[in-house]
Amino acid sequence: MATAIQHRRDFEIEYGAVDELSPLIRRIECRNPGPFTFKGTGTYLVGRGQVAVLDPGPVVEAHLQAVLDALGPDEQLTHIFITHTHSDHSPGAKWLQERTGAKTYGHGPHGQVGPNDPNDKVDFSKYFTKEEKDRYDKEYEDLDPALKREGPDLEFRPDEKLDDDDEVAAEDGNWRLRAVWTPGHCSNHLCYSLEQESVLFTGDHIMAWATSVVGPPDGSMADYLASLRKLLARSEQRYWPTHGPSVDDPTTYVQSFLAHREEREEQILAFFSEKPATIADLVPGLYAAYDKRLWYPAAGSVYAHVLSMVADGRLRVAGGGDPKLTSTYESPR
Ligand SMILES: [Zn+2]
Repeated sequence: MATAIQHRRDFEIEYGAVDELSPLIRRIECRNPGPFTFKGTGTYLVGRGQVAVLDPGPVVEAHLQAVLDALGPDEQLTHIFITHTHSDHSPGAKWLQERTGAKTYGHGPHGQVGPNDPNDKVDFSKYFTKEEKDRYDKEYEDLDPALKREGPDLEFRPDEKLDDDDEVAAEDGNWRLRAVWTPGHCSNHLCYSLEQESVLFTGDHIMAWATSVVGPPDGSMADYLASLRKLLARSEQRYWPTHGPSVDDPTTYVQSFLAHREEREEQILAFFSEKPATIADLVPGLYAAYDKRLWYPAAGSVYAHVLSMVADGRLRVAGGGDPKLTSTYESPR
């Protein structure tokens, strides 16, 4: 029996408008909707007076200007935090810094980029009907192509590197944020806890609208699962992800993610136990219910599972060699 994750996709936003979410939290949505970003990047303003921005998003000037315009006459942008170095989260930091002098914070520059072998790629194009290709091409046709992907941002370097449990506070004392290192989706991923409101900003680690993509080599399934368990030990009452609506029952929700991953693992093991096969053979069946564009990142997530199962001996590469995205895998028994 499949564990149903209770995703939430009810989410009304007006691009560029300031959503007042709580005494200390405001949010402005960037107009970069897509299969990986849902309605777009939600940029948070934390605090009143001296204000921190969390995940400025891509360099979309109308959006970043709206962030600056949200500040009242007595307010000042002093800190810029990023959850991780992906193109829909961090590039806007530089634009804001140039205009405000605010300092940037994050876990570090981006980790390893791309597969070790550039030819190690899956191709699902034969599964796309002409109608689907046309529809997908049209869906976001008025968007800049650079906004349609969630790739690494290789330029971001934080002024200050934050490690797990590091705390940063406004000089005027109106807010405090604590970094929670949560590798998995991305090796430098941080969540941020606003203990004053019992809220955790979860970036792309936990989202209400969808599961997180874990793509090796920078993403790691073992790290992701450990980072899910890490959240179970915490006490925040609400999560604010960078995309989509809030998570209001964090413990139940995170537990359902862990159960979902365990089931995926069993499905993957069962598939390769029948006969030697590739990840590209598995994904169309396993993700039949999903938008086919998501099969590519799904293949990455399956690969992440497979790597951890090769590491602990539950699977092996047929004929030996390094475990690649395109390798044939089999059960050792
Ligand atoms: Zn994202």
